[in-house]
Amino acid sequence: MMPPEADGHGPGPAAVPQPRPTTRRRWMGGAAALLGGAVGLPGCRPADGDARQALKDTLARLQGGWVGAAHARGHRLRDAGPPAWPAGEPPRRAQVLVLGAGIAGLACARRLQAAGVDTALLELEDQPGGNSRGHALHAAGRALPCPLGAHYLPLPGPQAREVQELLAELGLVREFAGRPVYDERHLCHSPQERLFHQGRWHEGLLPPSEDAGVLAQYRRFGAEVERARRELGFAMPAHRAPWTPGHARLDAQTFAQWLDERGLDAPPLRWYLDYCCRDDFGAPAAQVSAWAGLHYFGSRHGFMQAEEREAVLTWPEGNAWLVQRLAAPLAGRLHTGRSVLALREQRHEVEVLALDERSGRPERWSAAQVVLALPLFIAARIVQQPPEALRQAAAQARYAPWRVANLLLDAPPLERLGLGPAWDNVVYGSASLGVVNAAHQALDPRPGPQVWTAYQALPVAQRQALQTQDWGSAAAEILAEQMPLYPDLLQRVQRIDLMRWGHAMSIPLPGVRGSAALAELRERGQGRLHVAHADLAGYSVFEEAYTSGCEVAQRLLRAAGRRA
Ligand SMILES: Cc1cc2nc3c(=O)[nH]c(=O)nc-3n(C[C@H](O)[C@H](O)[C@H](O)COP(=O)(O)OP(=O)(O)OC[C@H]3O[C@@H](n4cnc5c(N)ncnc54)[C@H](O)[C@@H]3O)c2cc1C
Repeated sequence: MMPPEADGHGPGPAAVPQPRPTTRRRWMGGAAALLGGAVGLPGCRPADGDARQALKDTLARLQGGWVGAAHARGHRLRDAGPPAWPAGEPPRRAQVLVLGAGIAGLACARRLQAAGVDTALLELEDQPGGNSRGHALHAAGRALPCPLGAHYLPLPGPQAREVQELLAELGLVREFAGRPVYDERHLCHSPQERLFHQGRWHEGLLPPSEDAGVLAQYRRFGAEVERARRELGFAMPAHRAPWTPGHARLDAQTFAQWLDERGLDAPPLRWYLDYCCRDDFGAPAAQVSAWAGLHYFGSRHGFMQAEEREAVLTWPEGNAWLVQRLAAPLAGRLHTGRSVLALREQRHEVEVLALDERSGRPERWSAAQVVLALPLFIAARIVQQPPEALRQAAAQARYAPWRVANLLLDAPPLERLGLGPAWDNVVYGSASLGVVNAAHQALDPRPGPQVWTAYQALPVAQRQALQTQDWGSAAAEILAEQMPLYPDLLQRVQRIDLMRWGHAMSIPLPGVRGSAALAELRERGQGRLHVAHADLAGYSVFEEAYTSGCEVAQRLLRAAGRRA
């Protein structure tokens, strides 16, 4: 078993997933198509031969590859038939077996272990953390940590009790005069966000406008959010707000339909709302439900026209900072590199079949209770004869694919006009989600190498293309978008490591959030099986995943007559 990340600074060199070597011939074909004009360079005229040549030369010298996910392990479940259960050796036993060491699985196992329950945790990847895993790039003899997926946590509100407790336990917050005071080193440093709009950088992400019609729509949308908050109510985690016929009506239409009905059609407003939906839900306003669109604002910060954004906690390695601390007490109970292949419920126990990826040997486990801390579509595939609620919930789930790129720069690049570098840097009108600077939280003011993380949520129809995309064409797309913003970017960039998330997060399509199947899985176990995962909320954020894991642990402890 590989131990969880051990030092206080994210994954150390030994823990860093190594990129697969990229043969230039393999990817140059795809890059050549891109450079030949299949995709235009935003901001560069297609005829700008110099820019194309510079990009081509950069790609020829750049290092990097696809990192971070053992797709072959995941696809074994899809491609191989039902596995044979090996006879022979007696199964390994645990009172509770947690399958999947993402945030939900870690939260659940940690609570159970703290209460003295004999718990084991099986994880397919070689690192715990799931969508919140980290990575590192190396420069000047140093490891520069960066995220592979989740990179921030908004300050929890009153309903996210378990998250508040965790942050207090980790020393991130203390109470002073009855109010929470957060450790400033972990709050996102200023400036938090900036938007490149009409040739310069502006603070915040809401497009600046002097058009009276646009400003009126900003105000009107803000008023609609406040009204929905007052009359219906939203919470984070979502299930801690009541579910009323008013919520169900919002869940029955898309956010875009809801906005159209109210004449909220100003392009800057619609681009911004689309951006928010793609950023949190992986899909635009035309796909997510109106419940999701309003929940985004109503459950957290409201719609702040003045762009006084909410504070967030963040770290160079993103939420992997939290993962490392969640996993640390589980050492010895956390078995990474274990792909769960099948599960069958018996009268007095649950049997689980896993594959030890290092030895290639099957491993049988037996437990009184099993927690499926897995995406629903995987959980439904593993369980032989899945309970009806799990089958239905998995059938309705649709997952957004995401691509995440970590760019190593040898020094900060030259800047365009306007506000200076921010943590999150977004281009107005772009289909990608912008670039987060992992060095923004550094307390060392000297300029040096830094890592940028570029995020993109892709349409579901592009999952297959993402799976087979070559590194060169993906790297070219990312550089082509950033080149017009940073004049010497191509000189600065040294390496690009790419991560593909085939099923990054469940999209809150109309009908998903209000589905009876999800509510049933959230509220009760199915025999000896319990589901804990962000998917149970119909969308994916840390607060949902963490609370889901804690609630299942709580339910198991109550059933066993123990205190958490
Ligand atoms: C690119 C990206 C960016 C994001 N950014 C943010 C952000 O900034 N803030 C935020 O709050 N949220 C963000 N999220 C959402 C993120 O999904 C949640 O924060 C959280 O990490 C979800 O945790 P989970 O435990 O519910 O699920 P998962 O992360 O899906 O965990 C499931 C675990 O099960 C494992 N597993 C799967 N199959 C098997 C198997 N057969 N056997 C054993 N183990 C298996 C997986 O490897 C994984 O570790 C982001 C997600 C992505 C993809």
